[in-house]
Amino acid sequence: MQTFKTDDLSIELNCHGNTEYTKVSYPVKYGLFSRLETNNYIFEFNLNHEIRHAKSKKKAWIHPSEWLKRTLGNDWVYYSTGGYSGVYEALGEYYLPNLMYPTNSLLGGKPFKENEIDQIVRNWHQIIAQLPGTGFPDPVSRWIWAIKQQTPEGLHKKAQTLFDISGSRVTVMPPDARHVDYNIIPLNISDGCLYKCQFCKVKNKKKFSVRSEQDIDHQIKQLKQLYGKDLINFNALFLGEHDALNAPCELILKTVQKAYDAFEFQASVMKKNYLFMFGSADSFLTADKTLFETLNRMPFQTFINIGLESYDQATLDLLGKPLTRKQVEHAFQKIRAVNDTFPNIEITCNFVMDETLPDSHYEAVMTLIRENVNRTKPKGCVYLSPLKFGSPSRQVLYDFYKLKSLSRFPTFLYIIQRL
Ligand code: SF4
Repeated sequence: MQTFKTDDLSIELNCHGNTEYTKVSYPVKYGLFSRLETNNYIFEFNLNHEIRHAKSKKKAWIHPSEWLKRTLGNDWVYYSTGGYSGVYEALGEYYLPNLMYPTNSLLGGKPFKENEIDQIVRNWHQIIAQLPGTGFPDPVSRWIWAIKQQTPEGLHKKAQTLFDISGSRVTVMPPDARHVDYNIIPLNISDGCLYKCQFCKVKNKKKFSVRSEQDIDHQIKQLKQLYGKDLINFNALFLGEHDALNAPCELILKTVQKAYDAFEFQASVMKKNYLFMFGSADSFLTADKTLFETLNRMPFQTFINIGLESYDQATLDLLGKPLTRKQVEHAFQKIRAVNDTFPNIEITCNFVMDETLPDSHYEAVMTLIRENVNRTKPKGCVYLSPLKFGSPSRQVLYDFYKLKSLSRFPTFLYIIQRL
């Protein structure tokens, strides 16, 4: 690390953050980055000189251990402690991501309406543009020049390039991506999904289809270029889109290996490697044992998230989810079997929540997550996903805590986030 200080600012180049994702109740920074501290602000930049974190030191800042993060999709996310609202119990994480766009979160306020936060989101670049260009040692001058080049317009364009690589934005990340603070590399091996459920707000119109190997290779090459020097800070792959598990087993395994090699995950500064994907009841039920056996041997901790939504036929019909209660039951049994057999794989599942759903939905979920299980399970997270966007409800939160307290599985809320 190289440090340079004047009366008005401090610059630390090549800071070493934590090298393993951890869940702690104070702010932790990960990987390699650089930091600029002025009298009023702290800004952090990745190895491509792009801003990635920011906070104000002024009194008006809501809480000293809260901060802003800029995502690769160029959204700002405000990480709050959530006050006394039991963020860890609800999310499995100590910090609550507050998003700039409508989502299904039940917790948090409206931090982007706060003046100090708004100021940073709007003016961070103006603040760094005013830094003097001379009077520093050479490496520091070069670094200041480089961070000034990464303008909001340029970062917006870069996010668009990311979306163009796969042809679309990741409109929803798997809930399990929380384990790496959503720092994923998205690679599409398929498009669309099988069901086009009526209730779903993240679906697209694409019929399910599988990408060619050539297309996947091209994405890998472009992603490598886009992540650039900062690639070394990544250790997590997301295979898109909404049902990657429905792609042929050989394609999944070959892609995972190719991505591991191309993104040089073995050389990442972050320890362990993570693989995330979505699956459906159908793709999961037809997935062969070989797939899980092979994934389990690969150098990844694999998380596959399956949207089951309900175990009540009336609710499945109401949601327009073309599944039967029997299929959900079989999928849930297989989830448990895979989780019990393969230590490096965790299959997680989602059920929806809403005030308008019949009691039979909650009773049925309870049968699956409590009555049919005789002891507490350490893995196989059950995520409960509020149906409505932009409409936090005390009743739904109350129902969540009730289900959570009785569940035999780790049970958390699913906040829908895009990349
Ligand atoms: S819930 Fe999943 S399967 Fe259903 S429409 Fe949405 S993305 Fe497709």
